[in-house]
Amino acid sequence: MVDLKSQYNRLKGPIDEAIQSTIDNTRFIKGPNFTKFQEELSAYLNNAYVIACANGTDALQIAFMALNLEKGDEVIVPAFTYAATAEVIGLLGLTPVMVDVDPQTFNLTVENIRPALTSKTKAIVPVHLFGQCAEMEGILKFAKEHNLYVIEDTAQAIGSTYTFSDGTKEFAGCMGDIGTTSFFPSKNLGCFGDGGAIFTRNTELAERLRMIANHGQAKQYFHEIIGVNSRLDELQAAILRVKLPELDDFNERRRNVADFYDQRLSKIPEISTPFRNPKSSHVFHQYTILVKSERVISDRVEIGGRRDELKNYLATKGIPSMIYYPMPLDEQKAFSSIGRVVGNLEKSKQLCKEVLSLPIHTEMDEEQLTYITEQIIEFFKQQ
Ligand SMILES: *Cc1c(COP(=O)(O)O)cnc(C)c1O
Repeated sequence: MVDLKSQYNRLKGPIDEAIQSTIDNTRFIKGPNFTKFQEELSAYLNNAYVIACANGTDALQIAFMALNLEKGDEVIVPAFTYAATAEVIGLLGLTPVMVDVDPQTFNLTVENIRPALTSKTKAIVPVHLFGQCAEMEGILKFAKEHNLYVIEDTAQAIGSTYTFSDGTKEFAGCMGDIGTTSFFPSKNLGCFGDGGAIFTRNTELAERLRMIANHGQAKQYFHEIIGVNSRLDELQAAILRVKLPELDDFNERRRNVADFYDQRLSKIPEISTPFRNPKSSHVFHQYTILVKSERVISDRVEIGGRRDELKNYLATKGIPSMIYYPMPLDEQKAFSSIGRVVGNLEKSKQLCKEVLSLPIHTEMDEEQLTYITEQIIEFFKQQ
């Protein structure tokens, strides 16, 4: 699905140098690279505050810890997402309220959020799934009207931008109160282990987030609130400093792969290629097609698509593909008892049956893409 080795080989010189100089320096925790990486990522995000931490799940947990919510408070999440989004909500004794998503963008919309609102609702978590921003303008307006926090899960969309109707542009993760991201190796900006970061444009929240990530202390050995130990280690920071200047190029390369797929696959009637929201750039963390689960054969409608059959076929041709995600949150055992479900989540359930993510990374070449798309075209010729 991803080729981390080829990307490393392309950047090997500066990455090896960054790793070796960190070892020579032996400041493995909160050394110069940790500080500089936060500054450089902040500059990239037009001066949002950046708090680096140990991983994307911690980033979400620290974000929720900073909001002073009470047990039983409700947080609205999309049912179609990675479990980490809702996991920390449950961990903190809050109630994840699972709502449906838009079947075209795979993301939350106000229409899905509105019926979930109760007097206990305190926050909304739009997840910019697969690299494209949720409809933030509407979500932010709704949140403001109802006094709700907005935490953007930006683990899959770092570098993506959203354009508001007045023409202003903002980075994913910097529109709501707090944004969180992950530097897991396969993410768009990945390190060589675990890493994460929290973004905010609010000075007070930034201070609080930084304290929570650092055992609740602003000054060493003076602990004002209960925090956690969540740090981006120096080796990861050093690697990320080499990769951050490449982020826009990484995302451009992913978009080029997506364009190629679109061009070759969009004419196949049994599948749909990813919808491109004109208001958001797409950084294609995943390239996810839908294999329609209803098909018309001669004059009858056959229910039950060929998604799994396609996946198996591709595997026999040496082509990996993945189902992100096979099950909506409400069907996960961990969440079924603690969460609340709004509506029938029909669209999320259908997506789980139809989605298939194809290989996408920064080093894909035309030969690989031609081979993959030809195999997919071939599969659909065999009815
Ligand atoms: C990867 C991911 C996370 C968690 O990040 P980790 O660094 O693996 O903890 C959270 N949310 C989403 C949507 C993700 O894709």
